[in-house]
Amino acid sequence: MKDFTLTRKLEDTASEMDADIIGFADPECFLNSGYKGNRPQDIMPDVRSVIVLGVEIPRGAFETLPEGRAEYTNTLMAGTATLRIIAFKLAKMIEKEDHRATILPSEGSEFGYWYANRETLKANMSIKYAAYHAGISNFGMNHLMISKDFGPRVRMTAILTNAELENEEEISLPFINEKCRTCQKCIKICPVGALSEDGTIDRHKCADYMFNELGGLRCGMCVKVCPL
Ligand code: SF4
Ligand code: SF4
Repeated sequence: MKDFTLTRKLEDTASEMDADIIGFADPECFLNSGYKGNRPQDIMPDVRSVIVLGVEIPRGAFETLPEGRAEYTNTLMAGTATLRIIAFKLAKMIEKEDHRATILPSEGSEFGYWYANRETLKANMSIKYAAYHAGISNFGMNHLMISKDFGPRVRMTAILTNAELENEEEISLPFINEKCRTCQKCIKICPVGALSEDGTIDRHKCADYMFNELGGLRCGMCVKVCPL
C-alpha cells in the first residue's frame, strides 16, 4: 500500500533542506524493453520506489565558462555534496519507518557516471531515466536531463527504497525535448565532437577531454549554450 504520509514527509524535508527537485518513479519502468542499462532491481531486489532529488546549479558557474572551469567544477561538487546530505537525511527517515534505503552516486561524482563501468563509462543505473519516469525532466541532445524548471543546469541523485511511495503515474513529457530538433547548439559547441546529430554521445571522447586534456576539470560547454 502506498505510504502517502511518508511521501509528504520526504517532500517537506527535502524542500526545507533546499532541494529544488524531488520526484518518485516506479522502478517497474526499468523493466521496459527500451531501457538497456543497469536496473534498480539489480541493486535492491525488493525496490518499490526511486526517489529522484536535484539542486539547481547557479547560473554564474555556467556563464563564466570556459575561463571559470575550476569554479564551475567546484560548484558542481558543492551541488553533489549538498545532495548527499539531503539524501542521507531522507534515507535515515525512511529507515526509521522500518523500510530500507540506499543512495545512488550522483551523475559525474567520483563514483558516478564515469566510474561505474570503466569500459562503457555508463552509470550504475540511469538517474536520468528515473527522473523522466518521475515526471521531472526529459532528455536533450547533449545527453543531459532537461528539467522542467532549470533545464540542464541541475545536479541529481536518487535513493532506492523498498518503501512504497506515491510514484508518478502519468508521464506527459516527450522522451526527447522537442526544442532540440531546431537547436543543436550543444552539438556544434562540443570541442571534441562527442555529440552527434543522431542523438548519440561518444562518452570516451568527452571523458578523455575532461580527465586528460583539462586535468579533471569539467567542460560544461554543452550546458552553457543550452537555451532551455
Ligand atoms: S543545446 Fe539545444 S539541442 Fe542541445 S540539449 Fe539544449 S536545446 Fe537541445
Ligand atoms: S561536456 Fe564538453 S566535451 Fe563533454 S559532451 Fe559536453 S561539450 Fe562535449
